[in-house]
Parts: sequence; C-alpha cells; structure tokens
Amino acid sequence: MNTGADWTIEVDRSVCIGNKMCVSVAPDAFEMAEGKARARTENVSPSESVADAYESCPVSVIVVRDATGEEIEPGN
Ligand code: SF4
Repeated sequence: MNTGADWTIEVDRSVCIGNKMCVSVAPDAFEMAEGKARARTENVSPSESVADAYESCPVSVIVVRDATGEEIEPGN
C-alpha cells in the first residue's frame, strides 16, 4: 500500500558544486562521491534533516518527490 510517507531524493550531479552542505546537514541521506554529492538511497522517510539539506543547497540541485512522484519543496 502506498502510504504517502516516503520521499524520493536525487541530486543533479552535473550542477552540484560539491560544497558538502547536504552531507553535513543530512549525512544519512547524502554522501560525497568524486567531489559531488549523491543520494545514499533513493527512498527516505520524510525528515527535517532532508528538508534542511534541500533548503541549504546553494544551487538547488536536490530534487525531492513525494510518494506520488510529484516534486515538492520540503520546508516551505
Ligand atoms: S548542497 Fe547542493 S551543491 Fe552542495 S554538495 Fe549538496 S547537492 Fe551539491
């Protein structure tokens, strides 16, 4: 059953500037690889740390989708 509880996260690595903000704010969700961030896992539970990472990215390359696949702006 789709409960609507999960988020999907991804990083557009072609635009990521590698300042590690998302990794320091949400280390469970993001990690660095070859100087750029990537999602550790595609599906995460909605959390304040992921929302903070989303908001802290200076180039807005973190994409968060809700369980329906719709892009959302967590924290807003
Ligand atoms: S905060 Fe944004 S620019 Fe910085 S490492 Fe994470 S995805 Fe890349």
